[in-house]
Amino acid sequence: MDALRSIRGMNDILPADTSHWQYLERQVAELLECYGYGELRLPIVESSALFSRSIGEVTDIVEKEMYSFEDRNGDSISLRPEGTAGCVRAAIQNNLTATPCRLWYSGPMFRYERPQKGRQRQFHQIGAEIFGYATPDADAELIIFLARLWRILGIDDAVSLEINSIGSSEARANYRTALVGYLEQRRESLDDDSQRRLETNPLRILDSKNPDTQALLNKAPALADYLDEESRTHFAALKGFLDGAGVDYTVNPRLVRGLDYYNKTVFEWVSDKLGAQGTVCAGGRYDGLVEQLGGKATPGVGFAMGMERLLLMLEACGQLPEPRAPDLFVVATGDEAQTAAMAAVEGLRDARPALRIVQQLGGGSFRSQMKKADRSGAALALLWGEDEVAAGEVTVKPLRDGQEQTRVPVASLAGKIDTLLQQHSN
Ligand code: ATP
Ligand code: MG
Repeated sequence: MDALRSIRGMNDILPADTSHWQYLERQVAELLECYGYGELRLPIVESSALFSRSIGEVTDIVEKEMYSFEDRNGDSISLRPEGTAGCVRAAIQNNLTATPCRLWYSGPMFRYERPQKGRQRQFHQIGAEIFGYATPDADAELIIFLARLWRILGIDDAVSLEINSIGSSEARANYRTALVGYLEQRRESLDDDSQRRLETNPLRILDSKNPDTQALLNKAPALADYLDEESRTHFAALKGFLDGAGVDYTVNPRLVRGLDYYNKTVFEWVSDKLGAQGTVCAGGRYDGLVEQLGGKATPGVGFAMGMERLLLMLEACGQLPEPRAPDLFVVATGDEAQTAAMAAVEGLRDARPALRIVQQLGGGSFRSQMKKADRSGAALALLWGEDEVAAGEVTVKPLRDGQEQTRVPVASLAGKIDTLLQQHSN
């Protein structure tokens, strides 16, 4: 029979990589907690209407990328393609936005895209949202938080920040008219994708990757010239905060983001280390979304980072943590020795719960067990044989520094193990 395989674009994460994931997740979670964010754990499946009403009907995500299906009762439900919509839904439903708050979430997201490096169909994000502040200090704090995170992860030299303001919805509507007017006259120079977007979502043409389109846009009306006064002031203040905090950025006037709910600030952290999938983290302000989803009008601003891409960044920058070997490897030869060893090791775990102890299961010859001990990377092997059992002792054998082994009474093992590990750890 053919072995069953995972769904294309949905990958297993194996133990050798999980330690990297855990490291990254821990760094992000710890820093979020330091800034006062509370974690929200959200369902993976939501009603499809939540995403079409927030992300927008005519966006790539909702038009082509969602995993939507009928529940058994006929309701249309979807695997979440991103986290903000669910976060806002949960905040409204649980009245979390009654007072300003900082929330974060993490987990798998699902989009039907062409799988490639840095692009999966099941991928993972950590996201954060600040609700209740219309002021640009909130946008600034989010961005400054991220700058600190990149420093902690050691990838700050390899990422750069792009920001833009897309203004109010009225400003965007005015700009849209002007842009469409300009592009309509040059329709035949646009590729199929941009021609289609001219009808549906013309602002997305601004971030077309097509060089001819980009050239055409050089003389097009500029979004910045259509910004409303409030958005202008907001953007200037944001830049002031970033300058004050020493966070470098470039203003990318064509940065618009692919989700409908944004207004005013949008930003992306990009890297040239990831090929075409260069955006590691993206976000912006969404002051209308809470009300649009049925809550009391509440401003919001947030970001989401792509964990797969960040791990690729850590790898490219040589910042992945070293795998951690066990501290102790336990070798026991003979039935009695195995019984004695297992009991003694449990005693040691009681006394020193943080020790990483791997016991060789299944017995085997002393030689073959010692080979495994050597390969384990542990600093010390604990050896039990007939002699040790008879004497109530254990042999402690350094595995890495070539030093002599010693015998220790089992009763004093817990008391001595820290010193022994310190002596023989290199
Ligand atoms: P892209 O332009 O790369 O498609 P996006 O604008 O669709 O990104 P967002 O919806 O803003 O991305 O998601 C935030 C982050 O999540 C991205 O910057 C990226 O790091 C990550 N991400 C998005 N889609 C995928 C995917 N299919 N596979 C892996 N990571 C992804
Ligand atoms: Mg995308």
